[in-house]
Amino acid sequence: MESHESEGAKFLADVHYYFDKAAAYTSLPEGLLNQIKVANSVYKMHFPVKNGDKIEVIEGIRVHHSHHKQPTKGGIRYADTVDEDEVRALAALMTFKCAVVDVPFGGAKGGVKINPAIYSDEMLEKITRRYATELIKRNMIGPGLDVPAPDYGTGPREMAWIADTYAAFKYDEADALACVTGKPVGQGGIRGRKEATGLGIFYGIRETLNDADTMKAIGMPEGIEGKKIIVQGLGNVGYHAGYFCQKGGGIIVGIAEREGGIYNKDGLDVEAVFKHRVDTGSLLNFAGAQNIATPGLVLEMDCDILIPAALENQITGDNAANIKAKIIAEGANGPCTKEGEDILLKKNVLIIPDLYLNAGGVTVSYFEWLKNLSHVRFGRLEKRFDELSNRKMVEEIENASGKSITEAQKKILIHGPAEEDLVYSGLEDTMITAYHDINNTRIQFKIPDFRTAAFVTAINKIAQSYTTLGVWP
Ligand code: NAD
Repeated sequence: MESHESEGAKFLADVHYYFDKAAAYTSLPEGLLNQIKVANSVYKMHFPVKNGDKIEVIEGIRVHHSHHKQPTKGGIRYADTVDEDEVRALAALMTFKCAVVDVPFGGAKGGVKINPAIYSDEMLEKITRRYATELIKRNMIGPGLDVPAPDYGTGPREMAWIADTYAAFKYDEADALACVTGKPVGQGGIRGRKEATGLGIFYGIRETLNDADTMKAIGMPEGIEGKKIIVQGLGNVGYHAGYFCQKGGGIIVGIAEREGGIYNKDGLDVEAVFKHRVDTGSLLNFAGAQNIATPGLVLEMDCDILIPAALENQITGDNAANIKAKIIAEGANGPCTKEGEDILLKKNVLIIPDLYLNAGGVTVSYFEWLKNLSHVRFGRLEKRFDELSNRKMVEEIENASGKSITEAQKKILIHGPAEEDLVYSGLEDTMITAYHDINNTRIQFKIPDFRTAAFVTAINKIAQSYTTLGVWP
């Protein structure tokens, strides 16, 4: 850390700094910019939960950053480091993220100040249900109000508890399941949500690396094939980002977790490393890999692309000069501090910013919300119809050409889209379109870096929706 302020305060100050830097590229009135920057409502709560013989007072928070579109949307974080400024910073990023990928939500974020690792499943359920109840009591959750999702320390199980608690209070609301996303598939979730953030990161990296001009500017050959990649954090985001990048032709040379890191210049199999960590309780001592005792040092090892996918404030003024990667692909929210970013940009490192790159999660959450409101699985109505049409077309081609198509080829040609196919293709299209929106803004306004270009893209879109709402003259 470069200063004595808290990690959360530093994070919020950096988000505001990035916002102000981008605002200078717009021609919007100061008042409108202030409205877009500020958190619209903040609710902090303290509630009691019985743990054995003791009563514990739990601190929770929910920030609705922007009501320019409703519902608001953003994950819930469980960590003992949660503080108000951190949640404010994350909520603001959600607003800009949704705008960048054209997801029609305002930004929000929630946090519960606990270390989930020290609690039993029963206690976690009690805490989650009570947190949800506090939000229901204050009208701060609902399909048209605010729709939480998983974040650091939470997953589908917590989302199912929240959905169930909401439905118990709102038993006559037909759309109750749409009060939260990231649910298990059997409880109103959508196929593809679990891996969405990591898969979106892969699509975003691939699109950036396929852009000849962008690659030329940093002196790197095009394409993800053969690129050496390091991942920090093997949680939901890091695991899936690493898995899909490896599948797409990248070589995962290093992985860092809390307990240390591993490195192998010839490549690590992400799935095998994940299994090894589950089986042994540690990333260390993976066959053929070098152990790195200090996890932070893994970030400084040789690679082309570094994917920080753990927490904020990881690349700072203290370690940025030692980073060897030519591309920082921000899987986590806020992994680079302003001081770290300044050093990286001077070294001509390309930063693919969080508010674009990890937007895959909220994109597929949007699909899940649409599915819950329409009460029908994507692909249910058209899959068989499409398959019949495709089959007829294949038969016509065979008849007209006099050639027969192999059974394996037929299977591919006839296949009608199931829910997962549609989610993956919607996500891929979103990440590709957003990359080019940001890059076009960068070129149009002569902006040197992608983060500022992404903020400018978002701010201009949000400003437009205020104008169309008639709030501003
Ligand atoms: P997670 O809890 O599933 O995983 C985070 C992992 O990082 C954990 O395994 C943890 O042990 C590890 N970690 C923590 N500190 C570390 C350190 N210093 N070095 C190495 N590893 C460390 O959380 P997640 O959902 O994967 O979220 C990770 C980041 O991505 C957060 O910044 C979150 O806000 C962001 N994000 C998550 C989503 C989502 O859909 N889950 C979407 C967008 C952004």
